[in-house]
Amino acid sequence: MGTDDYRIDIPEGFLLKEAYIAEAIAAADVLITLSHFKGHGTGVIGGAIKNLGIGAQSRRGKFSVHMGGHPAYGFGTFAFHPDKFKGKKNDENWRELIECCPFDLIHVIGDKVTWESAKCTNCMACAGALFSRGLVDLRLRTWRRRMQLLRTACLAAVKTVGAGKVAFINLAIDITNLCDCAGFADVPILPDLGVFASLIRWRSIKLAWTKQRKRRGSRALKPKKNMLWNAAPVNLRLVPRVGRD
Ligand code: SF4
Repeated sequence: MGTDDYRIDIPEGFLLKEAYIAEAIAAADVLITLSHFKGHGTGVIGGAIKNLGIGAQSRRGKFSVHMGGHPAYGFGTFAFHPDKFKGKKNDENWRELIECCPFDLIHVIGDKVTWESAKCTNCMACAGALFSRGLVDLRLRTWRRRMQLLRTACLAAVKTVGAGKVAFINLAIDITNLCDCAGFADVPILPDLGVFASLIRWRSIKLAWTKQRKRRGSRALKPKKNMLWNAAPVNLRLVPRVGRD
């Protein structure tokens, strides 16, 4: 599953100098990216850039974007907060902590949880169990790099299909704090903004920002093309916790 891919060099990329695009996408004549525009715990916005930056990558491509095994940015370097574990009595699903890791790196002894993070392979199988309990947390440096990596990987997908052959549609409705892949949902943090489409991903982002500003009359940060987080035109002020969940 997800192992057929097309390797592409991205010499202009940050950290990531090559990417592995899913073969079906690499072979496509054109690509229409349909994204739900919402928050994301590590990508800030789970929109068009995230959709290609992760969604278009093959299995090993996703591993690269997540900096698997990297000594500074890999999952094993995330901050660990064992004090967030409430104990077996107060966490009826505590067993998933010891069952989620295929490499048996997470242990619960008594009411204490430990993690052999140095041996972590970055498979992310434990992400739901650890993040939902607040047991791990991205360090700020990793969070910043993650956004740069997503942009680079998105660029790789666009280059693979061909500039001008990729269209972007963002459904800015039901805009929740966290991504649809989170283990729980929440109420929207913004009113529905509409549907934004363009051939250039930057344009639909700018449209969403403009609409947001008009709707709220807010002084949301104006996006610039060279911002690290240019996928996040509106939410840094509105969702101060984004990136920590
Ligand atoms: S499940 Fe994967 S990411 Fe989590 S601790 Fe084990 S090896 Fe690391």
